Amino acid sequence: MPPIGLSFQYKKLIDETIETNRAVIFGDPSSEEVTKIKEVFGQLGSDYHVFGIDTVADPQTFNDLLQSKAPHGRVPLVFAMGKPIGGYEDVVKSFESGDLGRLLKPHPYDYDLIVIGGGSGGLAASKEAARLGQKVSLLDFVTPSPIGTTWGLGGTCVNVGCIPKKLMHQSALVAETLHVAYEWGFAEQRLELNHFWNRLVQNIQNVVKGSNFTYRVALRNSNVKYINAYGTFEDEHKIKLTDKSGNESYLTSNNFLIATGERPRYPDIPGAIEYCITSDDLFSLPYHPQKTLVVGASYVALECAGFLRSLGVDVTVMVRSVLLRGFDSEMAEKVGQYMQDEIKVKFLRPCVPLEIEERTPRSQTQAGVLGVKAQLTDEGTIFTEEFNTVIFAVGRKPCTDKIGLDKIGVEVDKRGKIPCVNEQTNVPNVYAVGDIVQDKPELTPVAIKAGILLARRLAGVSDELCDYSSVATTVFTPLEYGCCGLSEEKAIELYGEENIEVYVQHFTPTEWSVAQKPKNICYAKVITLLTENERILGFHYLGPNAGEVTQFTSLALKKNCTKAELDSMIGIHPTNAEVFVYLTVTKRSGKSSLQAGCCG
Ligand code: FAD
Ligand code: NDP
Repeated sequence: MPPIGLSFQYKKLIDETIETNRAVIFGDPSSEEVTKIKEVFGQLGSDYHVFGIDTVADPQTFNDLLQSKAPHGRVPLVFAMGKPIGGYEDVVKSFESGDLGRLLKPHPYDYDLIVIGGGSGGLAASKEAARLGQKVSLLDFVTPSPIGTTWGLGGTCVNVGCIPKKLMHQSALVAETLHVAYEWGFAEQRLELNHFWNRLVQNIQNVVKGSNFTYRVALRNSNVKYINAYGTFEDEHKIKLTDKSGNESYLTSNNFLIATGERPRYPDIPGAIEYCITSDDLFSLPYHPQKTLVVGASYVALECAGFLRSLGVDVTVMVRSVLLRGFDSEMAEKVGQYMQDEIKVKFLRPCVPLEIEERTPRSQTQAGVLGVKAQLTDEGTIFTEEFNTVIFAVGRKPCTDKIGLDKIGVEVDKRGKIPCVNEQTNVPNVYAVGDIVQDKPELTPVAIKAGILLARRLAGVSDELCDYSSVATTVFTPLEYGCCGLSEEKAIELYGEENIEVYVQHFTPTEWSVAQKPKNICYAKVITLLTENERILGFHYLGPNAGEVTQFTSLALKKNCTKAELDSMIGIHPTNAEVFVYLTVTKRSGKSSLQAGCCG
């Protein structure tokens, strides 16, 4: 009996070899039958891989495991496109009937899959499809922002989203730590710190450029043909490529994956496009933004406002209605309250911009002066205030309007999002993942997961679907907010107030005590369903390291965990995440949710 570890290792090796090669011949490379099989693949013009069984330490165990995959064949054993073909005679039979040819080249197109868009979803899908033996090309093209900002391969996340945002947020956290360095025993006196915007931007851009290069290399190593061109559909199997010099060419493909993402919207008011910037420009802005207005109140707006203020910028946020629409409103208000009270972000609310006027033009090295006319909508007051930089963070527009979807009949909704069933559009060979898909979270890990699983299904090696439920997320505001599942409002709407329980707890991180930061500002909330044994419906956490704290709440929700199961955990002390283990105060009880001690 072979060791279990060896069988496991061989099984994995066999599966991976079958999965990652169009055709694979297991056998003795020098045998006459293997030579003849190679000739068959040669005639079909197909790639193949020969795996010499005698190269493994225990050929007998390996052979037994192999035979269990194709019981009717004998070595040499052939697999094509993940399917068992059999031994030499089976290969010849399949070749003569045309079945093998159809299996290996089932279509007359240049590629099995062309992916349009080299962001989170497109990169992940293309590499996985190629790893599984598909012939894949990926097109990526960045249309410059209105002020001319452009970037490299990797899409929003790497260039103008998650990564540079998280790095600026980290710089803000460093600033916060340095401000209390004295209390932690460093320095003779409190530090008066200057922040050098250009140095931070340069360092972040170096990281981004490094990632652009890494992605190019990864595509090459994965056998994905990367083309830096803008793709527009000609018909459902043909795409036009336009490169940056305007040269046009065409490619055909059996399947297409649209992963073109979104770009920031500008409001339809005078001066918005001409004089203002968006998150597409902020992370490479070549000058200090100085006095800044951020318009919008969701993820992008509050995150940008937060790190800018912590880096010393004078920041005002113009809020049209609510903070963080769609999130738990109590948590969202606490996010805003902290920004206002603790780091001194100014809020104009409810307020909308009406017109932007340029008073002094910006240069490559210096912000300009802009006159912003706006209206406080409650009272109707119209006012004008000067800012040096105006950032619009008023939502994002799917990049689906200029790619010829009308030509091939792919449906889009009125926002430009693509309705899909399991990532398939209404045109059967055209798929979509990422931010452009209707009613799905606009988050990098969502695009990646959907892309990888789709690639596996297209290659025929899996039928696993993407489960978009219970996706955890974090808003990287100065006090971070992480959550998963339903907000309190949504839970009430779906189940009725009488059927839900809301557990809450304010707390003060231990690490805040030395620097005398405010007490009981951090907050945790868990919502349960009374009619189902207190099944947990939502986790909400406001405090340091929210992303790290909330990641695993997704698993608890997917597994339908109950409050009793949550309570059965033993905490890690002293941490902030342990707050979830000790939740006893319900909103209904009217008892105080303020933390008294910390150790029992
Ligand atoms: P994208 O990453 O946008 O990639 C699309 C690519 O396709 C782009 O390179 C585009 O130029 C290219 N393209 C478009 N049209 C064509 C065409 N016709 N031909 C060729 N190429 C084309 N998510 C998180 O999970 N965590 C975060 O912390 C986070 N922070 C964010 C911060 C900001 C400021 C922003 C704006 C977004 C943030 N997101 C975050 C969201 C995340 O960036 C997106 O959900 C993710 O990038 C979506 O991936 P995608 O593949 O759908 O599209
Ligand atoms: P959202 O669509 O989520 O929010 C748009 C904001 O702009 C809302 O506050 C909206 O207000 C406001 N707004 C819209 N139009 C106007 C207008 N004409 N004048 C004034 N205000 C206006 O967009 P975001 O760009 O913030 O985020 C897009 C997506 O990117 C998010 O859904 C998220 O999935 C992803 N993202 C994720 C991050 C993360 O994971 N940490 C970070 C950043 C982005 P109102 O509520 O009144 O409509």
